[in-house]
Amino acid sequence: MRFSKYYVKTLKETPKEAEVVSHKLLLRSGMIKKLASGVYSYLPLGYRTLRKIENIVREEMERAGAVEVFMPVLQPAEIWQESGRWDVMGEEMIRIKDRHERDFVLGPTHEETITDIVRNDIFSYKALPINLYQIQTKFRDERRPRFGLMRGREFLMTDGYSFSVDRAGLDKEFENMQQAYSKVFERCGLDFRIVDADSGAIGGNGSREFHVMANSGEDELIFCDSCHYGANVEKATNKLTSLPKEELKEPVLVPTPNIAKIEDVVANLGVEIERTVKAIMYKDVVTDAPYMVLIRGDIEVNEVKVKNLINTIDIVMLTDEEISKLGLFKGFIGPYGMDLKSKGITVIADESVVEITNHTAGGNQPDTHYLNVNYGRDYTVDIVADVRTVKEGDICSICGKPLRVARGIECGHIFKLGKKYSEPMHAVVLDENGKEVVMEMGCYGIGVSRTMAASIEQNNDENGIIWPVSIAPYVVDVIATNMKDEDQVNLAEELYGALTNNGVETIYDDRNERAGFKFKDADLIGFPFKVVCGKKSAEGIVELKIRRTGETMEIGKDQVVETVKELMKKY
Ligand code: ATP
Ligand code: MG
Repeated sequence: MRFSKYYVKTLKETPKEAEVVSHKLLLRSGMIKKLASGVYSYLPLGYRTLRKIENIVREEMERAGAVEVFMPVLQPAEIWQESGRWDVMGEEMIRIKDRHERDFVLGPTHEETITDIVRNDIFSYKALPINLYQIQTKFRDERRPRFGLMRGREFLMTDGYSFSVDRAGLDKEFENMQQAYSKVFERCGLDFRIVDADSGAIGGNGSREFHVMANSGEDELIFCDSCHYGANVEKATNKLTSLPKEELKEPVLVPTPNIAKIEDVVANLGVEIERTVKAIMYKDVVTDAPYMVLIRGDIEVNEVKVKNLINTIDIVMLTDEEISKLGLFKGFIGPYGMDLKSKGITVIADESVVEITNHTAGGNQPDTHYLNVNYGRDYTVDIVADVRTVKEGDICSICGKPLRVARGIECGHIFKLGKKYSEPMHAVVLDENGKEVVMEMGCYGIGVSRTMAASIEQNNDENGIIWPVSIAPYVVDVIATNMKDEDQVNLAEELYGALTNNGVETIYDDRNERAGFKFKDADLIGFPFKVVCGKKSAEGIVELKIRRTGETMEIGKDQVVETVKELMKKY
């Protein structure tokens, strides 16, 4: 491709709206253009990279035995009602009406559509397992579309769905997909980790996420370097360490005027923070039912775990007004000294709470706290569970070593759906004994456009993007430093031809611009290699520059193709 005929509009200035490096560089290098919040066009260079990631996905999915389909974006409300998700998806799902006032959605995901296909086609266990996937545009009206391709409202995803006759079949397909996805991310040249994850609105039991490690990542991940435990903080657990047990003392109500924060309580009452219990008030957004969550003073509540525990779409903290309405006193709430049941409050205690002896808690009267409260003797709760947030240095529940925190970008997610969709949508087959069984489903997704952005987060420097060869829009940029010099131009033309004819994707910067200008664009766009035809062109000598290392080598024109092909294996 000749640069002069191509469509590339690079920018000198970074657009103000871009916060993270991938967003800045995608805009500056002219790979994408914004149309509306979270909605982007892919310009030619960007589209090439997107297609390359797509093709890697395609190759690895086919290798793993998955078969490509292409399903509609436009989906009728009926299938969403059937699965029970019409009322659950909330505002993230874009809903529209057709001319007959019938409800439709723009697919945020395709579990319902694929289940509808398979249930009408497959009737015997003999046809299973099957694994169907597509690469398709998804629509999600995200609350906060941001970071360019990272969190779009319209984005490209590959989504695959497996159907098995039993749980063992599903487990096998899940592992198969985990391997295939690992291959995809490896081939994209990414440093990634697989972690246990929460299943979110897609549902099911058992899911893992593929995270590209980057400080700009929106997800916090918990790792153990000793035993390789890894989990999204939403799901992560730890081994509790508690203070030694004491002989039980009697509760004492003490005045704590204006001392509501746990740090102030600890400082003023001279108690150890590990012998305090915080009470946080939430409500279920669907039913409005109030919940009190008790947790040790030095630990934070994990709202995702609470939400899953009570099996609802979301929870929110009660406002000051709602707290007063319940007859509670903000900052002085606790499990003891008040009949919480009569107020309709469900009390949940983290496991950390039940192990503490003689703990401090809110006094349930203004400006007071209780000392020496004891779970079991003084109060009970409705549910004891793990609802805590794990942090750096907490203890690994598998091997006992300290856990570490890092940030990641979720680029892939695999789920064991089980019968979550096949049951309500009646996707059944006859098993070996002629008995009707509900199919076991798995679903698997990679954010193709997000992966493109994530790659830039890991591969850049102050001059621009550094694409790995596998997903670079072009592998080589041939540059003549002086377009008026016939030797240079002739050599550049010759090498452009030779590289292209040998299957190396090459762009030839034939623009009538200064060399420095061309170099800047080449670095910004991130071509892995530059072939520069400069002063020694008459002797048939060029400079080959490696973008990632900055290394430069002088080579004869006859060695160019061979050298580039060698380097392509390495970068
Ligand atoms: P997130 O937690 O980031 O909102 P999700 O868990 O809702 O993502 P999934 O339903 O698991 O996403 O979708 C599969 C994959 O699609 C994700 O792993 C991610 O790579 C990609 N993805 C999801 N939402 C977006 C988005 N708004 N923009 C770009 N890619 C996305
Ligand atoms: Mg996910």
